[in-house]
Amino acid sequence: MNIVKESSSLNDKKIFDITPFTHLDYPGKLACIVWFCGCNMRCMYCYNSDIVFAKEGNYTEEDLYGFLDKRVGLLDGVVLSGGEPTMHDLLPLCREIKKMGFSIKLDTNGLNSDLVKSLVEEGVIDYIALDFKAMNGKFGYVTGSSKYQNFVKTLKFLISSQTEFEVRTTIHADLLQPQDINLMMKELKSYGYDGTYYLQKFIETKNNIANMEKPEKEFDENALEDILEIVWR
Ligand code: SF4
Repeated sequence: MNIVKESSSLNDKKIFDITPFTHLDYPGKLACIVWFCGCNMRCMYCYNSDIVFAKEGNYTEEDLYGFLDKRVGLLDGVVLSGGEPTMHDLLPLCREIKKMGFSIKLDTNGLNSDLVKSLVEEGVIDYIALDFKAMNGKFGYVTGSSKYQNFVKTLKFLISSQTEFEVRTTIHADLLQPQDINLMMKELKSYGYDGTYYLQKFIETKNNIANMEKPEKEFDENALEDILEIVWR
């Protein structure tokens, strides 16, 4: 396949790694995962700290296109993850991937609302997983970011745009309790979100940003209110 490259930074090693195959990370599709270096958050429980702090990765966009060229017809989609993929100029990259015929899913924390908007409006993103880290009162503590309003802007935009997307939250019971999740569901509902709310439990690893261990507190799932459909992952 002859691919015309549009990006100006093809040779930057912005990609930390590529997972060649997953059937779990893109609903209904066989996909690969592209892990982008860097992040504009510092979530306490983040176990991708090596990716978050990486100044340079192992692969360039050129490498990715070479990899994908050999997967045409074998994979349906590409998951852009990280780190935070919207730290990078994804528009040219997404155009190239779409030209090759793949669907694209974006995993994002929602801070770069302008880029998410551009990607959606250009029609180069097929599905988005948006992380809702915490309500404003805890957002800074959990993520190290003061940009809660950027997340809200992205959320509101996605709701208004009819884009296919999901909202998901990672739960470490020492950081988020059922009453926090109830507030977050009410917040989502108040903006018009009526989809499934995915909750995922903190996975204990030896390596996370705040060296968090297994929660000391219990998380009582029975205290969750019936506001949105909840699916645990
Ligand atoms: S968990 Fe937080 S710090 Fe880690 S990659 Fe995601 S947004 Fe960045």
